[in-house]
Amino acid sequence: MEIPKNGYDVAVIGTGMGGSACGALLAKAGLRTLILEKNERIGGSCSYYEKDGFKIDIGTHMFTRGNRGPFGEVQKRLGIPNRIQFKQTHDLALMTGGGYTITLPKEAYRYPAFYLELYRELKIPLKDFYSVTKLFYDLVMMPDSEIEKWNERPVDEFVAKYVGGNLRLLGYLGGLLGLFFVIPFWDASAGEAIWCYKRMFGERTLSYPRGGAHRIPSVFCEAAEGLGADLRTGSKVTRIRVENGQVQGVEVDGGQFFPARAVVSTTSLRDSVFHLVGEEHFPEAYREKVRKLKKSIIAFQVKIALDQKIFEPGAIFGARIRDKNFDPTQVTMEEVKQGYQEIMEGKIPMVTMIYGPVPSNFDPSLAPPGKQLITACTAGPTTDVELQEPAEKWMDEMVEALDELIPGLKKHIMWVDRFDTKFIANWIGKEFGPAISTAQTIDQVGKKRPSIRTPIRGLYFAGDCAGGRGVGTELATQSGIECSEIVASDIAHGLIG
Ligand SMILES: Cc1cc2nc3c(=O)[nH]c(=O)nc-3n(C[C@H](O)[C@H](O)[C@H](O)COP(=O)(O)OP(=O)(O)OC[C@H]3O[C@@H](n4cnc5c(N)ncnc54)[C@H](O)[C@@H]3O)c2cc1C
Repeated sequence: MEIPKNGYDVAVIGTGMGGSACGALLAKAGLRTLILEKNERIGGSCSYYEKDGFKIDIGTHMFTRGNRGPFGEVQKRLGIPNRIQFKQTHDLALMTGGGYTITLPKEAYRYPAFYLELYRELKIPLKDFYSVTKLFYDLVMMPDSEIEKWNERPVDEFVAKYVGGNLRLLGYLGGLLGLFFVIPFWDASAGEAIWCYKRMFGERTLSYPRGGAHRIPSVFCEAAEGLGADLRTGSKVTRIRVENGQVQGVEVDGGQFFPARAVVSTTSLRDSVFHLVGEEHFPEAYREKVRKLKKSIIAFQVKIALDQKIFEPGAIFGARIRDKNFDPTQVTMEEVKQGYQEIMEGKIPMVTMIYGPVPSNFDPSLAPPGKQLITACTAGPTTDVELQEPAEKWMDEMVEALDELIPGLKKHIMWVDRFDTKFIANWIGKEFGPAISTAQTIDQVGKKRPSIRTPIRGLYFAGDCAGGRGVGTELATQSGIECSEIVASDIAHGLIG
């Protein structure tokens, strides 16, 4: 690969959702684009590996908006609409454990029955019937201008408005609404949660792509290369070179330098500022802001190969309570908070929460004929927290929980691959390995979200660290779209050296 005579217009660091979307759109804008990925395989969190005929996601993913959201928008802009096919299953998910069993259906006509089941399972008292119904109504119908007003207020405040002092409902519905953000729901932005649920429920687009999660960044990267971008895997950027307040290009492991007028970094803000650029290039006020940014927590993961299909829905959302004397219907907010605190302290919580998409139910080609692939995760602390119990124990607990939630599971297990939090941190390269590097807390969304532009000319941030809105992968893709527009416009207006 030859470096263009006058260097690149833009170098993009990372091929996750943010980097791959941004890189492809920059190439589409006619810019000489270089995309650099430290791993041998593209995709970041949405990358994959193969084993015994199974194709397995590195992360644990479902996608809330299919082609209706930013994935569709990127493909449209690239002139390849709907190249990615999003699939749904008859029952999208089973929510089970802790005394509840609720099935989330695919079709709209099954929704009234779904709500009835939900109300019955949650034992919603007659006096709360109207207000809980109003909550679900508002979740889907609230105008976006109204949603904005909830940006800087937490999910628990939003839910409490409807369920008042019913702490059991507050815990359950708050947990459900905050789920997307991998932070406690009392820290998560209600505006962000309502915005995401409104679209997911309104458009009924919860789904999974044919070919696996990596199909999305793969389509973006293929398009980028087709449009003339250079893509280099196995190329870890070690420095973003800055001189006199202007980006000069990037250096990769081994010392090679790639000149570029602009650099888009999709690792975390802390990595970009403190490790790749060097803090001396930023004003103190900016450094201080980056230092104080909050990240989400992360997850332990298991990938389970089964010798036959034993589970029908597209995903399992479950809970297993280890102390069988504990009554989940009497849970208090204090106990919910304590559970989260235990995770933050590196202890296995009393309740193991499971999020488990089943990729082969959406696309049977992801497993050998007749077999099934379950991917599952449970919340764990980022790697700056010392674990009080060995990582293996966290993952054993997850298998036990799944065996309780899916009876007979263990009998059909061919193998279990276990990914601890250090693995995912190394894979994505973001300091301490958070699921979302700039968490969607009340002070980090909307107008308060870190900006894609930076104090350095030619330096931009994209992915889940800056800009965008929505759930993880869609947040990162939306940010990639916004970033490509900003960079193309700055170059067109001669704002970059
Ligand atoms: C276990 C888990 C479950 C999740 N579940 C969901 C879900 O169900 N739905 C959802 O929408 N989101 C989910 N998310 C969140 C989602 O995966 C991320 O928010 C999103 O994919 C981040 O995209 P990104 O482009 O910002 O970064 P990443 O996907 O992390 O990509 C960053 C890329 O940059 C590369 N890189 C980093 N540093 C360098 C360097 N110095 N040089 C070169 N390359 C570098 C990395 O190798 C990586 O490929 C989950 C995340 C995890 C970990």
